[in-house]
Amino acid sequence: MSVSARTVGIAPECLRVFTDYDADFELEADAVVVGSGPCGAVVAHSLAEAGHSVVLLEEGPPFTPRDFEFEGSLSMARTLREGGLRSTSGTILPTMQAIALGGGSLVNSAICVRPPEFVFEEWSNRFDLEHTTRESLDPHFDAVADFLGIAPTPDDVQGRRNLLMKEGCDALGYSSEPIARNVRGCRGSGECFTGCRARAKQSMDISYIPEAMRHGAKVLTSVQVQGVLSDGRRATGIEGQVVEPFTGATSHRFRVKGKVVVLAAGCMATPILLQRSDDMANKSGQVGNNLQFHPGVAIAGIFPDIVNPQFGATQGYQSLEFLKDGFKLESLWAPPAVAAVRMPGFGKALLERFADLPYLANWDAIGSTHRSVGTVRPRRRGLDPNLHWNLHPEDVKILTHALWVIAEILFAAGARKIIPGVIGLPAEMYSLDEARVFQSHPIRARDLVSAGNHAFCTTRMHGDASMGVVNEFGRCHDFDNLYITDTGIFPRCPSVNPMFTGMALAHRASQQIIDAL
Ligand SMILES: Cc1cc2nc3c(=O)[nH]c(=O)nc-3n(C[C@H](O)[C@H](O)[C@H](O)COP(=O)(O)OP(=O)(O)OC[C@H]3O[C@@H](n4cnc5c(N)ncnc54)[C@H](O)[C@@H]3O)c2cc1C
Ligand code: SF4
Repeated sequence: MSVSARTVGIAPECLRVFTDYDADFELEADAVVVGSGPCGAVVAHSLAEAGHSVVLLEEGPPFTPRDFEFEGSLSMARTLREGGLRSTSGTILPTMQAIALGGGSLVNSAICVRPPEFVFEEWSNRFDLEHTTRESLDPHFDAVADFLGIAPTPDDVQGRRNLLMKEGCDALGYSSEPIARNVRGCRGSGECFTGCRARAKQSMDISYIPEAMRHGAKVLTSVQVQGVLSDGRRATGIEGQVVEPFTGATSHRFRVKGKVVVLAAGCMATPILLQRSDDMANKSGQVGNNLQFHPGVAIAGIFPDIVNPQFGATQGYQSLEFLKDGFKLESLWAPPAVAAVRMPGFGKALLERFADLPYLANWDAIGSTHRSVGTVRPRRRGLDPNLHWNLHPEDVKILTHALWVIAEILFAAGARKIIPGVIGLPAEMYSLDEARVFQSHPIRARDLVSAGNHAFCTTRMHGDASMGVVNEFGRCHDFDNLYITDTGIFPRCPSVNPMFTGMALAHRASQQIIDAL
């Protein structure tokens, strides 16, 4: 790959890519921001816009449409950590984290949902968070929504896969709505996961980050931050090594000093950075604890008429009807190589099932599994985490309930059969009556084919310094100038897709940092 600043349309002096490094180096700035995902990008932009010097560091490279791989597994190998094969021990849960300029926003479905008030009430009450109400966060949600053009998906790019979900929900009297997304000019190509070639998705690399650079922020890509430097209660900077994209080979060393250090490396990388830096910011003992996911389960429905599921916004419809029951419903498209993981059968039988692909609509539920918690710990070497997590039996009931509701909606929308993808249940079901097995058969955690790409809480906020790592504005309780702004600071899972909440909290934290600088 030969990405240069010019190919991504940015002033070369602001963006460094792998080939730009030819020696060890040191830099200094008002603020050092680690991680260019949604939460780091918002902070870098806000601080630069306010006139502060900012260095934003990202381990992954920038991607242009020419760099995207349309084939799912090849794309995963290039854009995701551990080739997209990262997983928890305990209950096996595959989980994807991006390694790219823009972080998860490059590969995600652009879904932007504000959690309802009851979520923040729970957060405030359980975690002593006085200022974290929906009302107090709304101005921050608004600021992000305006900047990114977040709006409901219009019907003309929904495609049949998404609109069928509305039909099924309408038939059953369940509420449903078009999903609001951070896109501009989406043409419904369904390829958000492998990178938006139309550049319609407002991923951070084409939205907040270039705008931060226009305000003078320096963005260093292909740099792996390996430690946070400190002196007493003050963080003084970071250090690390240049890494080659895709091979991970390390070369030149660097240090960046700052008046403020902001960690936004993602909820699995930030705790490792702290643990590798003499277990800093961990008087509470909570760094790397409380790992939560929104485990997702899905069912494919096969319809009598052509659906052509590859057309339409990757995820265009949702139902919030069951949020208080612990799950959110969404329509979904994934490239065939990824969808195949859930398909039963091998060889010829699998191939025959793929003949159903034009008739398929796949819908998923993400579960608010508060009782299921885990840990993030360093491996013997490197910065990849050891993840341990267990799906609690009560949370299995939530996901089983969700599967039943998806089956209901698929049959109500006219599916002639469904493929539930649950071990121990029939591979295909032809009627709602058959699907009642979801209500009668005891399903265990290990029977579910699940994945968890929404992860949080590993450096959670808490009003009580002995119970959490940061305060509600993202400042580490143990430090005067060390902030964390990624989704690790959520005290609990947010019940809806996390990116928008992460960005709103990061936007609020930025105002505090600006005041402190
Ligand atoms: C396939 C997929 C689909 C999703 N769809 C949605 C969706 O539609 N809506 C939604 O709300 N959420 C979605 N999510 C989740 C969402 O993308 C994440 O919650 C969000 O990206 C988290 O933002 P973040 O800034 O906390 O971390 P990240 O996006 O993970 O960004 C962290 C960045 O830090 C970098 N980094 C890590 N360690 C280092 C280091 N040591 N040195 C330098 N850089 C480092 C990483 O490379 C990464 O770019 C999806 C996730 C996936 C994987
Ligand atoms: S559906 Fe296609 S055009 Fe729309 S944002 Fe996703 S990748 Fe881009």
